[in-house]
Amino acid sequence: MMTGAQYIESLRKMKTQVYMFGEKVDNWVDHPIVRPSINCVAMTYDLASREEYKDIMTAKSSISGKQVNRFTHIHQGTDDLINKVKMQRLLGQKTGSCFQRCVGMDAINAEFSTTYDIDQKYGTEYHKRLVDFVTMMQEQDLTVDGAMTDPKGDRGKAPSQQNDPDMFVHVVERRADGIVVKGSKAHQTGALNSHWHLVMPTIAMKEADKDYAVSFACPSDADGVYMIYGRQSCDTRKLEGCSIDVGNKRFGGQELLVVFDNVFIPNEYVFMDGEYDFSGKLVERFAGYHRQSYGGCKVGVGDTLIGAAALAAEYNGVDKVSHIKDKLIEMTHLNETLYACGIACSSQGSQTASGNYEIDMLLANVCKQNVTRFPYEIARIAEDIAGGLMVTLPSEKDFSSEEVVGANGETVGEICKKYFAGRADVPVEDRMKVLRFIENMCLGTAAVGYKTESMHGAGSPQAQRIMIARQGNIDGKKEYVKDILAIRE
Ligand code: SF4
Ligand code: FE
Repeated sequence: MMTGAQYIESLRKMKTQVYMFGEKVDNWVDHPIVRPSINCVAMTYDLASREEYKDIMTAKSSISGKQVNRFTHIHQGTDDLINKVKMQRLLGQKTGSCFQRCVGMDAINAEFSTTYDIDQKYGTEYHKRLVDFVTMMQEQDLTVDGAMTDPKGDRGKAPSQQNDPDMFVHVVERRADGIVVKGSKAHQTGALNSHWHLVMPTIAMKEADKDYAVSFACPSDADGVYMIYGRQSCDTRKLEGCSIDVGNKRFGGQELLVVFDNVFIPNEYVFMDGEYDFSGKLVERFAGYHRQSYGGCKVGVGDTLIGAAALAAEYNGVDKVSHIKDKLIEMTHLNETLYACGIACSSQGSQTASGNYEIDMLLANVCKQNVTRFPYEIARIAEDIAGGLMVTLPSEKDFSSEEVVGANGETVGEICKKYFAGRADVPVEDRMKVLRFIENMCLGTAAVGYKTESMHGAGSPQAQRIMIARQGNIDGKKEYVKDILAIRE
């Protein structure tokens, strides 16, 4: 297994092409907007080497028998599913951010069972290829971007009906030794920080969409692959050279558009090509695993926001006030409800025909449906407790300014420190740090991961409602009542 430092070095060796603010970025590893997101992924490596986290951060590979990072593991039981959620909560607590590496773990597990099922029906050899890919991923301890979401163009039209055929990733050429693909994947969490992409279709498809029912893996720096970095609210604060104003200087998330411009994929990395009848199943499984994931990661991040709100109250000298205590209880209740869903869908998981374990789909979808709501309420309460200062505070540079402004020669910095002090025994910088952390989580770069991603990541709310409708068994519930009331139709 790699250490965080070795992971960062491994990224430097790649020739990944990325554009930001209209320009190509060569040394993206040290770019101030990108680096916090790399530090976050590095944490998934560093924690795995710590003895106290060994059980949740690593697992015994079902393929090699060796101890591997859990982010590369194929789940072998409900314990693995539960440990996955615990690992994600831990990482959320350690980073206060999206640590990005889960998409690859969720993708290999969805692919594991789906390639098996395709092979059973069509006699293909996708499952063996996938196992070989996972073996490499485990041995090299790779970070993999699980790439599902296509830009989708006109939502009222199927992939093959779009004006622009590239709105969904598709096969443009088939050769004896592989396929050539074209298209792009949008909102790709951690794509730049990944060594490989594992591409999957994004919706259920029909026969006409055959060329779009394609799944494959390719290195992030393969010929024809390039990315455009997604900007986040207040991102350029990271270019100001400040530390307090960014809210969370060390960690952050990242989202990109990944373009596949006629990329050749050798056969050994193709896991679906034309089996359109399995495209919906693959989507459902990947989404299910990622909806489970949010019952861990968003809870861990929620822990940091609750902690920040409690600190803000303490630094303001109101931590003993009863309504503040009650608000912290409410935040905790909401957060732990999400965790309960994450643990529940894991503990009720079951074995697939391929041998790996899958979460309870209904409970995973209920988990994510709650995630589309509760973080917003938790953030609302955090803003309530923090007070308006989290958005009216002068910049860090004002606090350190030596510009003389007062009649008695006081500097701008001294005036700021005087009027923005809270409790006398708390340094004003600490108060600023906590308020900026809350601002960042509710309104800044971290709000992408904590709020909007909670809404749309792993599928927007309606996608879960469709699954809940399918799995909710309303007919069965009607039968319970008919039985009790002896109704015979
Ligand atoms: Fe992992 Fe959560 Fe980020 Fe998804 S949103 S990659 S589950 S940390
Ligand atoms: Fe996500």
